[in-house]
Amino acid sequence: MVPRPLRRRGHGICEIEMNYQWYPGHMTKAKRMMEENIKLIDLIIELVDARIPLASRNPDIDELGKGKSRIVLLNKSDLADADCNQQWIRYFQESGVHVLEVNSRTGAGVRDISPLVRAACAQKLERDRKRGIVNRPVRAMVVGIPNVGKSTFINSFTGRACTKTGNKPGVTKGKQWIRLSKTLELLDTPGILWPKFEDNRVGMYLAFIGSINDDIIIGEELACDLLDCVGELYPGVVESRYGIARKETAPGTLEEIAGSRFCFLKGGQPDLKKAAAILTDDFRSGRLGRMTLERAPVGK
Ligand code: GDP
Repeated sequence: MVPRPLRRRGHGICEIEMNYQWYPGHMTKAKRMMEENIKLIDLIIELVDARIPLASRNPDIDELGKGKSRIVLLNKSDLADADCNQQWIRYFQESGVHVLEVNSRTGAGVRDISPLVRAACAQKLERDRKRGIVNRPVRAMVVGIPNVGKSTFINSFTGRACTKTGNKPGVTKGKQWIRLSKTLELLDTPGILWPKFEDNRVGMYLAFIGSINDDIIIGEELACDLLDCVGELYPGVVESRYGIARKETAPGTLEEIAGSRFCFLKGGQPDLKKAAAILTDDFRSGRLGRMTLERAPVGK
């Protein structure tokens, strides 16, 4: 499945049209792995980025995970707008999804996952009980697109007090399971979901948060798109961060940022590439403030 190429016009700084398409070959392998592993589990723990909760999902997971229990975690919630986190939680809950906001770096929210798992698996456990299956732990897998925080989450969730099962010499070959409790086991390798690029906006958001290889995107253009986006949702924030005056256009703002951070080329022109890197980095690390770029649809 290779997404259709999408074209869009740039800001005029760069002559080349910016295109956020990206589909490395290893994603095909990831998909195959995912299809295999999903057969082994009861529960999918899906990580999304709280700043772009829909763009960082892959809707294919609905098809892949048919019949499985599901929970969604809004990860990196520390980088997202606190009010928006609440709105997104309501949105997912109203869609019948078990959801929680977490910060995998600090572990905040991670402790509340167990009750959520129980709620998500209630029907399955009841079915098991009726069939006379008792004491069989729920088997779970963490899934998400690259860089969403899967490994960080697994470390935070499992901590040090876990025991690995499987792959014992002479016993089982194959998958490693981390035993979290009597009732829950986690596959120790996460499932990598491939981002969904049909909508170029999705690609753009993923580039903002750093989920697309920076080598293949044009820094200034990305920064200008980011400025447009942030300027609309959080007016004045960029200007106050860099102590600059408001400019009508994103390239104009980028020039101001270059000036305020003393980024100049040899000839004295503003170094837009450097300014773009500063801005993008400030956004990604949260130095620009907690920001949510995608807003929960209202009136659902
Ligand atoms: P993976 O590719 O999905 O396994 O992602 P990683 O676990 O490697 O995380 C990618 C980056 O995001 C790392 O720099 C993590 O430290 C960072 N990260 C993961 N979770 C969080 C979080 O909740 N908050 C913040 N601020 N950073 C996070």
